[in-house]
Amino acid sequence: MKILEERIREEGLILSDTVLKVDSFLNHQVDTELALQIGQEFKTIFGHLPVTKVLTVEASGIQFAMAAGIALKVPFIYAKKKKAITQSEEVYSAPVHSFTRQEHYRISISQKYLGPGDKVLIVDDFLATGAALVGLADIVEESGAELLGVGCVIEKSFQEGRSLLEKRGIPVYALARIASMAPGEVHFIDNTADIKEMIKESAGC
Ligand code: 5GP
Repeated sequence: MKILEERIREEGLILSDTVLKVDSFLNHQVDTELALQIGQEFKTIFGHLPVTKVLTVEASGIQFAMAAGIALKVPFIYAKKKKAITQSEEVYSAPVHSFTRQEHYRISISQKYLGPGDKVLIVDDFLATGAALVGLADIVEESGAELLGVGCVIEKSFQEGRSLLEKRGIPVYALARIASMAPGEVHFIDNTADIKEMIKESAGC
């Protein structure tokens, strides 16, 4: 997604060779117009699939899962990282190790909102080590729902996330794929061929 790549080049702060800060338009202050365009882009990629729910994890996936849900006209669910006192019902849960916070936590969602018969699109802001998305994929599996694919806004392709998901047979599409980065320099992988590949793969699902 060209407009997204341009924003990353213009506003992204490279904190190290593995961490990119995009707080001015994606992760802290959110450019709402861009978020809605991101939702539309996910519709272009996944709209031919019979998605019934979009799934993400709090907090930074929420705005993109909501935008995708609006575009696809389906609800979105976000997995919670802490058990709230209002959460009394049975949950599906999975352990996750956070790349940015360097800590372990459990994500959970109520069993009321996902189950056999659901067809799920997982959406998140970043695909890095893949830990968060693998945790979400485990939850989908536990619920008996079907996982149709993963859409992420930014993939750091030099980390192992994509290969972990693809090893499980999960189709992955990223709107911006970063091959490498250094201060003042971000190199993207051309993802135009991925769209055709995605559509072919998911047709065979
Ligand atoms: P994972 O390593 O599980 O793929 O990434 C988990 C989460 O860590 C992502 O959803 C994202 O919120 C955060 N994350 C991973 N890498 C980065 C990064 O380079 N920059 C920012 N801002 N967040 C990241």
